[in-house]
Amino acid sequence: MKRHDFTVAVIGGGASGMIAALTAAQVPGRHVLLLERQQRIGRKLLATGNGRCNLTNRNAAPADYFGTDAAFAAPALTHFTPQDTVEFFSGLGLLTVTEESGRVYPLSDSANSVLDVLRFALDRAGVEQRCAFPVEELRPSGSGWQLAGGSETITADAVILACGGAAGAKLGGVTDGYRLGKALGHRRSALYPSLTRILTDPEYPRSLKGIRVQAELRLTRRDVLLAESEGEVQFTETGISGPAGFDLSRAVSFGGDGQVVHLRLLPYDEAEVLRLLKARRDALPDLEASELFTGMLHNRLGRVVVKAAGISGAAPLHELSDSQLGYAARRCTDFCLAVRGVDGFDAAQVTAGGLLTESFDPKTLESRLHPGLFACGEVLDIDGPCGGYNLQWAWASGALAGRLGS
Ligand SMILES: Cc1cc2nc3c(=O)[nH]c(=O)nc-3n(C[C@H](O)[C@H](O)[C@H](O)COP(=O)(O)OP(=O)(O)OC[C@H]3O[C@@H](n4cnc5c(N)ncnc54)[C@H](O)[C@@H]3O)c2cc1C
Repeated sequence: MKRHDFTVAVIGGGASGMIAALTAAQVPGRHVLLLERQQRIGRKLLATGNGRCNLTNRNAAPADYFGTDAAFAAPALTHFTPQDTVEFFSGLGLLTVTEESGRVYPLSDSANSVLDVLRFALDRAGVEQRCAFPVEELRPSGSGWQLAGGSETITADAVILACGGAAGAKLGGVTDGYRLGKALGHRRSALYPSLTRILTDPEYPRSLKGIRVQAELRLTRRDVLLAESEGEVQFTETGISGPAGFDLSRAVSFGGDGQVVHLRLLPYDEAEVLRLLKARRDALPDLEASELFTGMLHNRLGRVVVKAAGISGAAPLHELSDSQLGYAARRCTDFCLAVRGVDGFDAAQVTAGGLLTESFDPKTLESRLHPGLFACGEVLDIDGPCGGYNLQWAWASGALAGRLGS
């Protein structure tokens, strides 16, 4: 059997674990083991970006990230930028396209391509993959580590914890990483689902189900602004989803009772919408009020806005007063949905919260409590907005952890 000077065990064959293993394997003489509890590596990656894998975002910068100490992420994100991600994947043979929003996808439009090039690279680099190997216990042993899973115990000189977070439970999101960290004295912050559907009072959503709209969103609580976002919103049976809705979900998770989402449904201010509505009343006096927004908004949405403004849909437009048109313009630029909460970890794309970063060195991602233990990806208390930011954190932190402090 081939003898190795140094064994590195990577716990978790997801995005951050794969790149960490590839980076660690660049040093000759190292035996790199990638341990994955599921039947195959990269299962969650295949589901990303609705199966297209939004692998990074050209605009991702350290200031965009969240966490108890979000500045912790800066060295990793600066060391491995979105451009580095694109070049890294290009080097593995993946062609990519960048959308106007900065989102980067494989040209094939298939997440499979991203996983395939990673798998080929792992094989070429000689990384030993052990699937269906759930690491249940991780303990220091002499100058190295013992990793127990099932009936087997593996020894390693260094360990990279890349177990991901609790989000996407149906795709294998688990809390193992936090548990393994805790057993070694690493504390974690509270966990919240993020980038998930916002649940609202059921009054409107059901009749709006399936409608997509470009909107500006504000989240308030007792008239205090908590968060803002902009972009596509999709109405669902229970509330809102879509990138702009997802981006508010983190703040909803943290925000408590009494929150309201306000949507500006047209890219105009209230006075301009009122001017358009008055012109419509003049041009089409016999039209039913329920059609007030026809041609301006999705017709089902238009009818709901009219109803939300307290206007009877059957009245002809010429019967509507200026103040009634004013209410309609107000509801169109400030369409309010009372928030009930967010969907749970099953539906969430990312976990807000995780292992507290104060116990890791941001320049190496090595544990301050246990030399030789590194952590990367979602298991750490760092998360980002929708649009490629979380995979960028996974690649950047995995590439840094894989250097094992060198
Ligand atoms: C539906 C969905 C869509 C998404 N879309 C996007 C997107 O388009 N762009 C984007 O940037 N982000 C997206 N994300 C978020 C992104 O996928 C994650 O942030 C990223 O995968 C985190 O990488 P990770 O390596 O930390 O964790 P993961 O990719 O979750 O990998 C962790 C791995 O560790 C394994 N593991 C856990 N515990 C153990 C154990 N005890 N022993 C062995 N193995 C273990 C898990 O099975 C898993 O394979 C999406 C997430 C979801 C759920």
